[in-house]
Amino acid sequence: MGKVQKKRLKLKEPYVKVLKVLGVICVVLIAVFVFYRKEIGEIKSLGYSEKASNNILFKYKKDYVLSVGENKTLNAAFESDNFKEEYLEDYSKINYVKQDNLIKNINKLIKKGYSNSDISLILEHGDSKEVSEFADREKVKYLEEFFSVKYAKLSNYDRYLNYSYETGEDEETTVLYVNLNLDKTPYEDYEDVKKFSYDMVVNKYRKLGEDFEPNLVEIKEEYASEKGMKAERVAVNAFIKMYEDAKKEGYGLVINSSYRSYQDQVDIAETYRELYGDSYVEKYVAKPGFSEHQTGLAFDIGSTSSNVFANSKEYTWMQENAYKYGFILRFPKKYEDITGFRNEPWHYRYVGTKISKYIWENDITLEEYYALFLDK
Ligand code: ZN
Repeated sequence: MGKVQKKRLKLKEPYVKVLKVLGVICVVLIAVFVFYRKEIGEIKSLGYSEKASNNILFKYKKDYVLSVGENKTLNAAFESDNFKEEYLEDYSKINYVKQDNLIKNINKLIKKGYSNSDISLILEHGDSKEVSEFADREKVKYLEEFFSVKYAKLSNYDRYLNYSYETGEDEETTVLYVNLNLDKTPYEDYEDVKKFSYDMVVNKYRKLGEDFEPNLVEIKEEYASEKGMKAERVAVNAFIKMYEDAKKEGYGLVINSSYRSYQDQVDIAETYRELYGDSYVEKYVAKPGFSEHQTGLAFDIGSTSSNVFANSKEYTWMQENAYKYGFILRFPKKYEDITGFRNEPWHYRYVGTKISKYIWENDITLEEYYALFLDK
């Protein structure tokens, strides 16, 4: 027992020394840690992430970052493995967009010789892959001309260039028309439309499949010129509301044609071919799959007061009121070059009241609305 106690007493002094040293180290570490957290906190309070803040400290760029203040592109740069110190100032001047490989793409564009404002413009007009491809091509000449148009697309650059060269159209028209594929061959160079939506666009460049069919209901005979017509449920209800309100004001509307299947359109083309010949059909009859009637959202509207709709009082009433019920005049005369269809004063399309109101108030076509808001 006594021997053991002696040993313990002997060991006590070195232990104290070690503990003292450890204590000092601990205090220093805690002080360093507190200082470090304070520094990080200062950077983070400007909106930088933990990862970016760490890198900022580690790369000794705290003073620079504090002088810049909140900056999302800088934050992304410090978060990225592609960070290049020589581009630090560029990063801070380029507008941030949420994009994979943002910093990698910016590096490529800087290297290509684009200015910071050019790069901001480029980033706005494409996704990560498109920007990367754009950065790989030779530096382009007419960047601002086309890309000051909000909905211009990087991937369409060459088409814009060709179209404006060939037609002499201004940049805004060029961007719109190319985005709508008007530089392509109608009925040949088209996109497939598969999904139903009230804002869907079907035209000579956007085709429905043979088996596309919306949610159909039969239209009661009192609203239509013949029995058994069908159309999309919500659109039919909207029409009935419009019909009733028009009726109260002394106007008589009637549906002359509504939903037509792919096969119906095949048959129509045949009938017209026999009656008027090939060139008539080519010019005036939509090919199967390219007719909006297949969406169940299109109505050819007639008047009970006149055989010629365009001369009727109902025609005027529709022009002033249809938008309130979610309908738009689909093929106005002055926009034939955009819609690709000849003026049809009777052809109305249901799009819902939000879009119909916008289109009516801004006097644009569904195609332009699509280019502005839907074509992502
Ligand atoms: Zn029609």
